[in-house]
Amino acid sequence: MSLVTFEQLSLSSEVQQALQTMGFSAPSPIQAQAIPFALEGRDLLGQAQTGTGKTAAFAIPTLENIDTTLPYVQALVLCPTRELALQVSEEFGKIGQYIPRLSVLAVYGGESIDRQIRGIKRGAQIIVGTPGRVIDHLKRGTLQIDQLRTIVLDEADEMLNMGFVDEIESILRFAPEDRQTLLFSATMPEAIMRLTKKYQRDPEIVKVIPQNLTANRIEQTYFPVREAYKAELLIRLIEVNDVKIGVIFCNTKQRVDELVATLQARGYMAEGLHGDLTQMTRTVVMNKFRQGIVNLLVATDVAARGIDVDDVEVVFNYDIPHDPEYYVHRIGRTGRAGKSGKAFSFVERYDVRNLKNIERYARAPIVKGEIPTVAEVQKRRQARFLLQCKEEMLKATQNDYQHLVDEMLGEGFTLEQITAALLKLQLGEQNQRDALQEALAQQNTQTRDSYDKGGRQGGKYGNRRDERRGGERGGSRDRFQQRERSGGSTRTRFSEEGMTKIQLSIGKEHNVSKADIVGAITGETGVRGHDIGLIRVYDEYTHVDVQSSHAQKVLQKMQHRRIKGNAVTLEIAQ
Ligand code: AMP
Repeated sequence: MSLVTFEQLSLSSEVQQALQTMGFSAPSPIQAQAIPFALEGRDLLGQAQTGTGKTAAFAIPTLENIDTTLPYVQALVLCPTRELALQVSEEFGKIGQYIPRLSVLAVYGGESIDRQIRGIKRGAQIIVGTPGRVIDHLKRGTLQIDQLRTIVLDEADEMLNMGFVDEIESILRFAPEDRQTLLFSATMPEAIMRLTKKYQRDPEIVKVIPQNLTANRIEQTYFPVREAYKAELLIRLIEVNDVKIGVIFCNTKQRVDELVATLQARGYMAEGLHGDLTQMTRTVVMNKFRQGIVNLLVATDVAARGIDVDDVEVVFNYDIPHDPEYYVHRIGRTGRAGKSGKAFSFVERYDVRNLKNIERYARAPIVKGEIPTVAEVQKRRQARFLLQCKEEMLKATQNDYQHLVDEMLGEGFTLEQITAALLKLQLGEQNQRDALQEALAQQNTQTRDSYDKGGRQGGKYGNRRDERRGGERGGSRDRFQQRERSGGSTRTRFSEEGMTKIQLSIGKEHNVSKADIVGAITGETGVRGHDIGLIRVYDEYTHVDVQSSHAQKVLQKMQHRRIKGNAVTLEIAQ
């Protein structure tokens, strides 16, 4: 926060009162720099990230320059996504809550255009919209911007990245020449500078570039991992860190869908957020996430732009972003509002260079993390379970299961016997599943997975002998290597060397044949026929041997699919 106060910025009493209600005690640096110039009607070129208070930096002066006695559009704010448009229009609404007759309207694709047309006709003075939908309205003649005083381009670099340059230029050409243009962008690439030169008049440049782009409050860790093992690593990290609110980033929509299916199948409250979902679904997902009904949000970069939740504990880079700026944006979802946060990045061999670029760009160290062992996960889970038990016992309410305990006591069992049996039933199944996952992971983890940050002689990854020697010194990689070398016994769980047995919940009783099963697996997952081994169709279920490297994919992609009209569930056969 700066030394300037909101009083010194000579704002209207309505805006001052709203800022007080919102708990903004002093302007943030970008606000202190931008507001005085913008109030004078000057053009602005603002460089600021999300989280710096940039929205209010343009919303406050824009609101001050609106004449609410006039029932037509005087300000237009362009945002890259619907989520951001909604968020920005809400911030306008909050800052303008005491301004009489103020009307702010968000317009974006995926929502009824008629409702938006009615809103514009009712005399909206500020429109916050996505470029595509704004162009639609302009072309239909349902939106006039010839009396515009201010146009704001928010997250301009992102709009350009999304390919909106033509739309933006058309909109700027529609707007009157004597308008004020406020352009905010996290980065200032060449394309932004071109836009500025062409459409801004002598803009005042205001910047807030933090010392390191990723706040110190965020603990940044990377984990060397192979694709086949990522889901397992994710689950272990969620468990040992007891993650209640997390955002997981994937690079594509398909990866988001796959991961959501995996997490849901493992019992996690996870939902996906990406550009292919309807606006309504996205709003529902975000609301569930805000209310804590969903605690893991799996998202692509573009869809996640508008995520505005202050309590995100961990951001996972399930896939490393191609662009270092994305990394900074992603991890900025945690460590907000003065809280601390964690960022965990999953690094495959080919990501190594990218990670180094990111580290350089973000000017913050990303340290190598220890992969939690199954034992650690179980210990954590048991501790949580014990805590829940104790909480339950301390509750004053009647326990509906007391009569079952009485029944067992009546049959002569002791309380110790009953408790131990229940614990085994509750925790044992999970532990067994962990052991199997561990075995699967070993098969998929090769000794050359490791990423040695310091670099070694003999190339980036060193040679195999070096790595083995490195392995003896300790650290998470070593544990995997040691287990891999002594892992013969666990392999007995697999039907053949390199194959994993998967159980499908359908069998002879469901009228399915081996051909149906092979057809469904090859068709749905892309796994080839020669990667599928022995198939045994039993009455109620089927066992299929699949190449271990494809097992996770089959588990994820086939889960809840239909084979001959039957919804099928899959698990690793015990
Ligand atoms: P933004 O960078 O616009 O996404 O803002 C980040 C968060 O900071 C939002 O939740 C704002 O409501 C909040 N915020 C903006 N300005 C201030 C301020 N001057 N004092 C306190 N909080 C603020």
